[in-house]
Amino acid sequence: MPIYTYFFSFLLGASVASFLNVVAYSVPIGANWAIRRSACVHCQAHLTARELIPIFSYLAQKGRCRSCSVNISLVYPLIELAGGLLFIIPLILLDQIDGQQLAHTWLFFSLLITVTLTDLYYGLIPNKILAVFGALLFMVDPSIFAAVMGLALFLVAALLGRWLFGQETVGGGDVKCYFVIGLALDVRALLVSVVISCGLALGYVLFVAEDRREPVKFAPFIALGAIMTMIALGI
Ligand SMILES: [Zn+2]
Repeated sequence: MPIYTYFFSFLLGASVASFLNVVAYSVPIGANWAIRRSACVHCQAHLTARELIPIFSYLAQKGRCRSCSVNISLVYPLIELAGGLLFIIPLILLDQIDGQQLAHTWLFFSLLITVTLTDLYYGLIPNKILAVFGALLFMVDPSIFAAVMGLALFLVAALLGRWLFGQETVGGGDVKCYFVIGLALDVRALLVSVVISCGLALGYVLFVAEDRREPVKFAPFIALGAIMTMIALGI
């Protein structure tokens, strides 16, 4: 595959991730992301088109705002980098690029980026976001059976968790999220991704988390599990 395909896919993924970060930050608090133009959070100076180029603008400005020189959080370029790298994955895995499959995978990765960010920012996965991605995935080759299975599996896990521990262990957002993820994966991939996600989350609670009683933000593990599954199974 020509090198520019990788370059443009990376740039597209980085730009999409940058946009999804604004969506993930705005939607849960009811802010309007559509009219919100990117501005410096410190001095409110509107960013020029050049300053909106993902990652490269951060490097060119040495991580500072051009107007007020305040340090720009490293989180932004890191999210853009992650988006860019994710968008390259299907190009590496697929021998032949099939437009529909590429769109499907990019859409799926966009969903994973968004739910990870809303969960990290606010500890929730908004229905609005799941509904939009669900509808889009539904239009591109959905797997209804895996979706229903994802929903059922996590509904059982949620009820079992509440019954065993007397408190919410699996959030309602996670249950609905697995329904939408099921639309994008087949049954085998769904089951593998659930096992990996739960394994990673369990490992985090046992070895990393400082307070084990604190509810785990599960969406990042859902995303990691799904991405690792797609790489392992070659999508
Ligand atoms: Zn500024």
